[in-house]
Amino acid sequence: MSTLVPEQARATVRELEAQCRQCLQCGQCIGACPNGFELELGPRRVVRMILSQDVEKLLKCEDVWRCSECQACTEACPMEVDVAGMMGRVRELQMEFGGVRCPERKVAEIATKRLSRKNKIDNMLFGTAMVSRGFIPSDLLATAEMGIKMSTGKVRRRPRLTVEGTEPKPFYAGCSLQQDKEAFNATAKVARELGFPLAEQEGAGCCGHGSRGKVPAKLETDKSVFTVCPACDYSLQEVEIETEPVWQALVEHARREELKLAAAKPRFVPYVGCLTDRETALGSLADAAELADAEMVSSYPGLHAGCCGALGAMFRGPTEAVLKLIDFAAENEAPIVTPCLLCRDNVRSAVRSAKKKVHVYFWPEFFQAAGTAATTADGEADD
Ligand code: SF4
Ligand code: SF4
Repeated sequence: MSTLVPEQARATVRELEAQCRQCLQCGQCIGACPNGFELELGPRRVVRMILSQDVEKLLKCEDVWRCSECQACTEACPMEVDVAGMMGRVRELQMEFGGVRCPERKVAEIATKRLSRKNKIDNMLFGTAMVSRGFIPSDLLATAEMGIKMSTGKVRRRPRLTVEGTEPKPFYAGCSLQQDKEAFNATAKVARELGFPLAEQEGAGCCGHGSRGKVPAKLETDKSVFTVCPACDYSLQEVEIETEPVWQALVEHARREELKLAAAKPRFVPYVGCLTDRETALGSLADAAELADAEMVSSYPGLHAGCCGALGAMFRGPTEAVLKLIDFAAENEAPIVTPCLLCRDNVRSAVRSAKKKVHVYFWPEFFQAAGTAATTADGEADD
């Protein structure tokens, strides 16, 4: 068995082992991991496999594909092991030397190839490529809806979000917002109503995050940009572009200008996903709730920051973290509100699969400027 593993893979793992030697196996990394519910082994045991140089097991470890690269493990490690970096290196090792057949891995491979040719991912072609390789989406209805949207030309393709005003602020839409007309319009509407001028940047295709390969972000700018997706924040910051989530800026703007917000429902359950700066995001949602006289119903923070499933969820089905969140929202008879579009879609798929009556809103579908909410707030999810 061991002879099948190329020497180069063994040499790489030896290098990694040298970088992990100070690991105490204390478990703080898995304790901090917002995806803990989904991982079979977790980062501590991945580090352990590196320490024991168990190359065969590392090449088969699916956990590294369920890691959302949030860095919480690295930040938590008292011995300064770059745990998230190790997860990434094992992913690269699997890409190079083979490994498991899992949807996340196939998604990553296809995304990497496509992004190296074009600066955005076409969801329909992407889905077709996955299906042709035997990975059938778990939420066929949502997939069909997206396919219909794409084929009827309702999905916008060129930058067009410009909210007039003095010195419009640079805005990077990313690929998910670009492909969702309703969410795009809802974002523009809130910005307009709050008098927050935005100008969408050319080149706002996929930031490259979804690939988890070596495809860089396509945006080139020396300016700080407002963003709508935490994966974009992560990828753009890696290429030293400063980012700020636009919804947090809008809430801050409303507070500064003493503007009230309006909420679509009197109470809601927050969900910030695993990639967002969680504490700040929950704080901003609480601020928005206060400005809208709405009640934010929350439990311990982990419930609001688990993994939505990101890349793999549409093929694997709902994550444990999201099912717990949906139960919490159902018990509290409140909708879920998230600032991440990918999270919204994955949580909606999970709601459908769990057959629960829980609505899921992307933040601008739920929060609008006071006096305008009645016109478009409609975050239906599961009907
Ligand atoms: S937190 Fe650091 S020291 Fe503790 S188990 Fe994880 S990698 Fe090892
Ligand atoms: S980077 Fe985040 S998701 Fe990945 S193992 Fe570390 S804490 Fe978990």
